[in-house]
Amino acid sequence: MSNLTKNEFWFIVGSQFLYGPEVLETIEKRAAEMAEVLSQSPVIPCKIVYKVTAKTPDEITQVVKDANYDDTCAGVITWMHTFSPSKMWINGLALLQKPYLHLHTQYNRNIPNLEINMDFMNLNQSAHGDREHGFIGARMRLARKIVVGYWQDQNVQEHIGSWMRSAIGTKASRDLKVVRFGDNMRNVAVTEGDKVEVQIKLGWQVNTWGTGDLVTELEKVTVAEIDALLDEYRQKYTVATDNIDSIRYQAREEIAIKRILDREGARAFTNTFEDLFEMDQLPGLSTQRLLEMGYGYGGEGDWKVSAMTSVVKQMTEGLPGGTTFMEDYTYDLEPGKELSLGAHMLEVCPSVATDRPRIEVHPLGIGGKNDPARLVFEGHPGNAIVISLVDMGGRLRLIVQDVEAVKPIYDMPNLPVARIMWKAMPDLLTGAHCWILAGGAHHTVFSYAATAEMMEDWAEMMGIEFVHITKDTTVESLKQQLFLADLAWKLR
Ligand code: MN
Repeated sequence: MSNLTKNEFWFIVGSQFLYGPEVLETIEKRAAEMAEVLSQSPVIPCKIVYKVTAKTPDEITQVVKDANYDDTCAGVITWMHTFSPSKMWINGLALLQKPYLHLHTQYNRNIPNLEINMDFMNLNQSAHGDREHGFIGARMRLARKIVVGYWQDQNVQEHIGSWMRSAIGTKASRDLKVVRFGDNMRNVAVTEGDKVEVQIKLGWQVNTWGTGDLVTELEKVTVAEIDALLDEYRQKYTVATDNIDSIRYQAREEIAIKRILDREGARAFTNTFEDLFEMDQLPGLSTQRLLEMGYGYGGEGDWKVSAMTSVVKQMTEGLPGGTTFMEDYTYDLEPGKELSLGAHMLEVCPSVATDRPRIEVHPLGIGGKNDPARLVFEGHPGNAIVISLVDMGGRLRLIVQDVEAVKPIYDMPNLPVARIMWKAMPDLLTGAHCWILAGGAHHTVFSYAATAEMMEDWAEMMGIEFVHITKDTTVESLKQQLFLADLAWKLR
């Protein structure tokens, strides 16, 4: 399902005719070289293509129009090598529909002490050319990422790479279809939301299919298809059960659900234990497998977390660490060492596993169906984030919290599901307080691969509210931020 390398980003350099053809030739040569070198960086996931040294309003408008309608162009990067009067940019930027990064850099790192003269000054004037360009971005209230620093430096390239992934996330969003088998779990509030508003803001097409449609598809799966999948399971996981029939039923579910998703061009789905109709088991192992392949999933009909899981998985393609659907389940409240234990009834993605997952079969106290097979494993230690998108009524709020996953402090031999243990920032008690204050859901996307920076840039591109709970967040400061945000969003 790779999307990342199909995308490119356009490098648009600003100048004007004031400086003569020689200067413009030098700029062209340098811009092409910079695009080439940046594209080779291991932290930059997509190709950067040098497009034009723009010198007139018409050139700028044309390249923006081309960018808007080119499906391979996932965003534009601007940089003013010389002074490029910004009224020339207004009409073009007013049309821009692609993510926009303003790179504030210069070709040379150091000032050449002996060579510097007025010719050098005229050629290398990003320091004020980019200020003129920055003003028009601010004046037009454009959503933009600003990256400042020497273009060959690792941290500059990292910020560019991170923004590219956010831009891929906007594309993933605009293309996303979510298949819902059944509705949300009855009476639950936070998993609800305005699907029309979400489609307008984020592009998600969220629609429902009857569980009966899935049952019909289940019946079409052949024994040979199930046999083949069982071989794959045995290679990848440790089979720790004698109940092979249960595993075979999950294989049948995996094939049938995947078939429906692929037929509909959907990359995310939901189901609910309250609406399993004639299915024998709640999908467990099957859902975990689909998550591992890159599909989004949300339990209890939670289509927002399902869609977010898919978007984050697409943004972070190729990065280590993994991303999963997750739920804060229960706490260990040892004073000063408080930890959250996250899990779900079944459906945690094995991309976050630290060890080889085991296939186990256990009864499920909920849903009244047969014992489902599931993958059981521990999540690995490391820095991560949890992500929750909530519908505040009239606007969407994206909440991101920094967390530190630890090796689970207990082995919990009777816990029959995959699990991760983590410390929420700034500490579990304050962090949970802040989370609840902001209205964060019990379901989250848990990601070692995504960063808060990526999610913040994505939220800005989508035009939604962003709340970040960090090691420095206090309840008082967050309260103030949420109060002011409520006022600001009412005015929009
Ligand atoms: Mn749940």
